[in-house]
Amino acid sequence: MRPVIDLHTHSSVSDGTETPQQLVRAAVTAGISIMALTDHDSTAGWSSAAEAAQGTGLTVIPGMELSTRQGSVSVHLLAYLFDPTNPDLVAETARIRTARLTRAESIVARISADYDLHWEDVVAQTSEGATVGRPHIADALVARGMVANRSAAFAGILHPAGGYYEPIYAPSPLEAVALVRAAGGVPVLAHPATSGRTGSVPEAELKRLVDAGLFGLEVDHRENTAEGKEQLRAWAQRYGLVMTGASDYHGAGKPNRLGENTTTPDTLDQIIAAASGAAPFIG
Ligand code: AMP
Ligand code: FE
Ligand code: FE
Ligand code: ZN
Repeated sequence: MRPVIDLHTHSSVSDGTETPQQLVRAAVTAGISIMALTDHDSTAGWSSAAEAAQGTGLTVIPGMELSTRQGSVSVHLLAYLFDPTNPDLVAETARIRTARLTRAESIVARISADYDLHWEDVVAQTSEGATVGRPHIADALVARGMVANRSAAFAGILHPAGGYYEPIYAPSPLEAVALVRAAGGVPVLAHPATSGRTGSVPEAELKRLVDAGLFGLEVDHRENTAEGKEQLRAWAQRYGLVMTGASDYHGAGKPNRLGENTTTPDTLDQIIAAASGAAPFIG
């Protein structure tokens, strides 16, 4: 039988609502054969996910979704099978997580001038040590009954135009691609064609990323537009990049369902062959 491969999921180590153990169980139940764990800016869930996968038949591809920034545009970079102890990558992700915390506190301080929302509310929605982001502020707003769900929070108070937004410190996509490669990992641009743009990076920048070792584009993702996917397929062809598909599952935090988009076994084989930093956990 053809394996079902989903290369983009989040646990409570970042902004997913399920622990790595619960996420692994959900993947097994959903009939996934191979799942990448790609929490934002953290590898803290790798060992629990590997442990939970033992004996289930599920293979876990250790990964991460790195925050990067190109000017004012937030660009996400998926990274697979890198060495989680690589000092430069460890230092950079620690720096991003710390900056995220300061930024979230600052956003909440400004919201609390207008709404009955406090930092403790956000802490209550965040697992210890987790990569903090707007999703946790959204959950606090939901818990306070101010909005119905995360999506509503993102459409209003947390929207960049909502009046409280602040960008996060993050390396450039180019620096991030180089870091991941240097750690033996395989970098793939996450959902690069969302919200009407044909790409979250212009083609000239994409070329630079390819030269630095970018390996693929996440084409099949629910937030990529139809025209955007066409552009991404053309770019993949032009620059010799692999194309992946994935759910970007966040548990109850987003409508995205496990396995709603998938990656072919052949593409995953290419990713594994290009990696030298870590091995898949075969459960
Ligand atoms: P941040 O990195 O703190 O700016 O927050 C961005 C994160 O929020 C992304 O990683 C998404 O997972 C999540 N997110 C973005 N838009 C939405 C939405 N409409 N509903 C739920 N989560 C969202
Ligand atoms: Fe997220
Ligand atoms: Fe993302
Ligand atoms: Zn994601």
